[in-house]
Amino acid sequence: MPWSPAQTCITPRPRCCHPSTSRAPNGPGDASDPASARSWSSPGWRASLPELAHHTLAFTRDWDANFRAIMDDLTVPHPASIYVSRTSATDPSTAPDGHENLAMLVPFPADPALGATAASRAALDQHIARYLDQVGRWAGIDRLRERTSVKKVLTPHHFATELGAWRGGALGLEHSLAQSAMFRPSNVSAKVPNLLFAGSSTAPGIGVPICLISAELVAKRLLGDTGASPLPAPLPAGYLARSKRADGLGALARSLATGEAP
Ligand SMILES: Cc1cc2nc3c(=O)[nH]c(=O)nc-3n(C[C@H](O)[C@H](O)[C@H](O)COP(=O)(O)OP(=O)(O)OC[C@H]3O[C@@H](n4cnc5c(N)ncnc54)[C@H](O)[C@@H]3O)c2cc1C
Repeated sequence: MPWSPAQTCITPRPRCCHPSTSRAPNGPGDASDPASARSWSSPGWRASLPELAHHTLAFTRDWDANFRAIMDDLTVPHPASIYVSRTSATDPSTAPDGHENLAMLVPFPADPALGATAASRAALDQHIARYLDQVGRWAGIDRLRERTSVKKVLTPHHFATELGAWRGGALGLEHSLAQSAMFRPSNVSAKVPNLLFAGSSTAPGIGVPICLISAELVAKRLLGDTGASPLPAPLPAGYLARSKRADGLGALARSLATGEAP
């Protein structure tokens, strides 16, 4: 979970290790403004956007200014570095016939106010129009914005309110030195007994494969496995019954395996 809703929402405030109002030394990673756009081809157009591969990364020339805007000034960047995925290039079922599906990812400041009000959403709509124009210009696509028929926008406000993401960040705590490896918040709650964490803002960090390792670390804690080797895959059903722990976590592990109360 991003900056662990378990810590910000579920545990009562005095027992939170990291309440949502706290600011980590180096803050969250960036937020993102994922926009999904369906762009259609009018008669006479080729029914595709061959200018875009399945994955396209478009970076601004002024790399430093772009990062400064996002990380230091907390302002919406323009021009922006943008990732575009033309999902329909690989899977035509993601768009109706004669249409394309584009998912655009724009790194944004981690500011939950972005998208919180009608005025903010209207301002973001203007930015999105500029981003579509930017992608169209850079990729050599004529009238990309005008050809867009359906649009869905997810803002930092959405990440904060719908997903419990700390400060609306899309990725969790950034991997600065002070928030990496043994300095990253542990998988074990310092305040609530037997509360373990998995996800991007605990160890080892961000990204789906890494989050799965954090889940494996939780399983190893429940098993009392202190070895460095990975657990066998796939794990057999009821594997938690083999917990070597004699404490409450061991009892919890065995009860999870058998379905009986610890
Ligand atoms: C746009 C985008 C693109 C990405 N691309 C990649 C990529 O290409 N490769 C990669 O490896 N990683 C990618 N990531 C990062 C990756 O998705 C995350 O690191 C990972 O999903 C985090 O997993 P998690 O379990 O910590 O959180 P999540 O996957 O966010 O899961 C948390 C879940 O908890 C739920 N939840 C929140 N609050 C509560 C509550 N109070 N009660 C119950 N449930 C709650 C949420 O609804 C959500 O389903 C991307 C992230 C984003 C946003």
